[in-house]
Amino acid sequence: MTQATLAQIGSALRQHHRFAVLSHVRPDGDALGSQLALTLSLQLLGKEVTVWNEDGLLEKYDFLPGGARLTQPPPEPQDFDVAVALDTATQNRLGLAGEAVRHAKTWINIDHHHSNPGYGDLVYIDPNSPATGQILFELIQDQQLPIDPAIAENLFVAISTDTGSFQYPNTTARTFEIGADLVRGGVDVGRVSRLLYENYPRRRTELLRELLGTMRFEARGQIASFSLSREVAGKLGIRPEDNEGLIDHLRAIRGVIVAVFFEELADGKVRVSMRSKNEAIDVSAICQKFGGGGHKLAAGARVRGTLTEVEERLLQAICEVIDCSDQRPPG
Ligand code: 5GP
Ligand code: MN
Repeated sequence: MTQATLAQIGSALRQHHRFAVLSHVRPDGDALGSQLALTLSLQLLGKEVTVWNEDGLLEKYDFLPGGARLTQPPPEPQDFDVAVALDTATQNRLGLAGEAVRHAKTWINIDHHHSNPGYGDLVYIDPNSPATGQILFELIQDQQLPIDPAIAENLFVAISTDTGSFQYPNTTARTFEIGADLVRGGVDVGRVSRLLYENYPRRRTELLRELLGTMRFEARGQIASFSLSREVAGKLGIRPEDNEGLIDHLRAIRGVIVAVFFEELADGKVRVSMRSKNEAIDVSAICQKFGGGGHKLAAGARVRGTLTEVEERLLQAICEVIDCSDQRPPG
């Protein structure tokens, strides 16, 4: 795989006409913000743009400018000159959206996951970037693609959500410079942050109460986990996006190095979400052993088995890299 340059991607965007802009299933703020930012920029270039996500636009993100354009893909594939996959570490994480564009002539893959194998014709992966939205900002600036306040707000949401509000270690001086540029470009930080972080449905906090009831610690408090059964999810009427960020309550505990969230899914699998606070503990390597992936400090997988089975297997795998014995080693 050879990495494309921003210039090559910029010229492909200018040259072609019919675009599909996609991102991963169970999208987060980086996925949706990136999709809408690129869509609106291409639209200002006069392109025909379709923007699909298997899960559609989540209620939580329905304030995003241009959000009404984002829909679920149709069952029959359609023709496109270019399919752009954003923030999507493996092609099959595009889900049904990937199926619906399978006849696209050219594939562009823009992402920041180091586990991304580099599928597609034009590939731009920057694992040092904290968000795909940051890469898109660099692309837009470098290639002088259109940007307006609506695009700026989408990019700001992408970057804010993937950096934990500019807090995670992948946040660099460049991230703040881009944040400043976006604010100068029209983003109302107070308003956007209120919509993102102070506007949750009550059931999300009721979910947190249930999760804390299942909280457990291993390795003398270095591993913290909690889990969500389908029964509890059903009782509270939980939507998939409700649990985004709840794992941070575990990560925030002093002494915790690895935080894990287990969620029982309808298909006989368990969704595993993992966070690390220590660069030496690479949770994406652990998740890759179970068919997943992600970043060193934030990763995930879907693992077949019951909640209890998957919990035990994953905790054991973590104990291969963190000492889980009860006693501190002497000395
Ligand atoms: P989250 O825990 O927020 O769902 O995901 C954390 C990170 O791990 C994200 O960057 C996401 O792309 C990645 N990730 C989560 N689940 C999976 C999975 O099932 N497969 C792969 N390859 N990556 C995942
Ligand atoms: Mn991302």
